Amino acid sequence: MKDTYRHRGLRRQLIEQIRQRGIRDERVLSAIQRVPRHFFLEKAFEEWAYQDRAFPIGKQQTISQPYTVAYQTELLEVEPREKVLEIGTGSGYQAAILAVLGARVYTVERQELLFQRAGQLLQQLGLGGVRTYFRDGTKGLPEFAPFERIIVTAGSPEIPEQLKTQLKVGGKMVVPVGTPDGQRMYRITRLAEDHYAEETFARFRFVPFLGGLSREEPSS
Ligand code: SAH
Repeated sequence: MKDTYRHRGLRRQLIEQIRQRGIRDERVLSAIQRVPRHFFLEKAFEEWAYQDRAFPIGKQQTISQPYTVAYQTELLEVEPREKVLEIGTGSGYQAAILAVLGARVYTVERQELLFQRAGQLLQQLGLGGVRTYFRDGTKGLPEFAPFERIIVTAGSPEIPEQLKTQLKVGGKMVVPVGTPDGQRMYRITRLAEDHYAEETFARFRFVPFLGGLSREEPSS
């Protein structure tokens, strides 16, 4: 796989579109410039990698639209060195953006095939520092908690209680909450041990946040 001058030019155009739609955080925009999104898509979609669209990545899942990735990342307000938990590794693209922003990323995926592919790809891109786990993200990663930031990239029917308790005091979680037809973006801030603040933002449509694991059948 190659990242050419043309790809970089397409990313610059994409960033301009995202900026026009209201993303202001320059660090987020420059992370999008630095991560070659076409590496995260199936070959058939490579041509369209720099359109502001979601695409299938297998197992009925999608890589989020770049605007949505930028929106969630901007709300997360990540600082370098912070410990960030991502639920829903998918293609690994959002994890790569967080890693480029200097976060210490822990990412969890319930689809075994996607978990395997994303791990390999992040490794190839020199982002092997991202820790990937094949786990049910509804339970978070209690053994590595607390986290300064948590980002959920699947639509949750409610605010995930188990994840809230894995936030550090002062930490923030960005999560889309609603029905499969649409969710509202929430930002939860843990103000004290037992005290959380909620803010709500725009509406989106994510694939569902599901419990349990989905394993690959061993090929015989
Ligand atoms: N962040 C991804 C977007 C992937 S779509 C990217 O940048 O490509 C959401 C992902 O969440 C899907 O891969 C889906 O399998 C996963 N998912 C849904 N419920 C989950 C759960 N309980 N635990 C872990 N992953 C989950």
